Amino acid sequence: MSKDYYAELGVARDADAETIKRAFRRKARECHPDVSDAPDAEECFKRLNEAYDVLSDPAKRDQYDRYGRVSGSGPGGAGNGNPYVDFGDIFGGGVSFDLGDLFSSFFGGVAGARGGRAVRPEGRDMSIGLTITLEEAARGVTKTITLDRLAPCPECKATGSVSGAPPATCTKCGGSGQVVGYQQTLLGPMQTRQTCPDCGGLGTTTADACEECQGSGRVIDRQQVEVEIPAGIAEGQKIRMKEMGEAGIRGAASGDLLITIGVARHERFERNGADLHVRLPISLAEAGIGATKLIDGLLEPVSVAVPAGKQTGETIRVKRAGLPIVGKPEALGDLHCHLEIIVPKKMSERAHELLRELSAEFGDDETSDADELRKQSFGDKVKDFFHGAN
Ligand SMILES: [Zn+2]
Ligand SMILES: [Zn+2]
Repeated sequence: MSKDYYAELGVARDADAETIKRAFRRKARECHPDVSDAPDAEECFKRLNEAYDVLSDPAKRDQYDRYGRVSGSGPGGAGNGNPYVDFGDIFGGGVSFDLGDLFSSFFGGVAGARGGRAVRPEGRDMSIGLTITLEEAARGVTKTITLDRLAPCPECKATGSVSGAPPATCTKCGGSGQVVGYQQTLLGPMQTRQTCPDCGGLGTTTADACEECQGSGRVIDRQQVEVEIPAGIAEGQKIRMKEMGEAGIRGAASGDLLITIGVARHERFERNGADLHVRLPISLAEAGIGATKLIDGLLEPVSVAVPAGKQTGETIRVKRAGLPIVGKPEALGDLHCHLEIIVPKKMSERAHELLRELSAEFGDDETSDADELRKQSFGDKVKDFFHGAN
């Protein structure tokens, strides 16, 4: 006899994934054995879990829709690990946090309650991205991030019990989180291992469950975390904050918080490791005779000595005007200035006069010979001219 999983969750047959997820959370609140006094709460939750297991998995749902049953589904079956609370649910960016997530976390989720495996009580690592500016990456910065995490319950000091009593070993499963059951198969009764209904697979129970955390020992809390970002950090590098991830169940070890750093593109500077690249426009005259330019560096002014006779596209390296390197306190990258000779669109009569004179000096009119042009670069000519004029 096939079961109606859609009716179990109270959703239409064409319900989308989000609707199914929400229906599961809502129903879970009604028949979670820890909060419901109904005598059939456990059984109810088991059925709900089985229905959700199938309908939340596209492949299983498809199989169920076609044949009215799914092979190997449900508790004791060969369910594959379906992630439970995903990171999006935890961070979400919003204040609202559905209790349903708490329940699924408490149980170790659908995955944990399936296949008769014991539930891992330790909290998971959490990931978050954080984008900083190139200046911040160069200088190092302390950022405060706000995140919603499953934190140790302050009410019960993470024990899950009102009296603060440490969790007791589950008497039903002896702490293994699993119980042995029998299933009728074509080959006769078969022994199966199922998740313990009393402890949800945790192996421990609380006598007087804390209302704040529903006995799980952890609650969703909006927390501010100070992140120290070292100078020189690169795009994609991760900062690990110990035990700032998801709290464990009833005082078990917390996971870590992993912050992946993104560095925003800068409008003037290109970064290549610890080196910086920047355009450096210079005038015709500066190209000819050289110049010392004071430019805006990333963090402070940088003096760039431009030797005479440089061409557009040539680069000048300013040592140690780049970025620091994480873990190498003395190391600094370089600044590469890419020269660009700018020909003015507008110029004074005097400037025109000088350029005409310059052109005559170069013998531009006579030098139609390409070999002659190649012999002496324009920069050299400009240099010669200005040095001669002094
Ligand atoms: Zn509590
Ligand atoms: Zn148990």
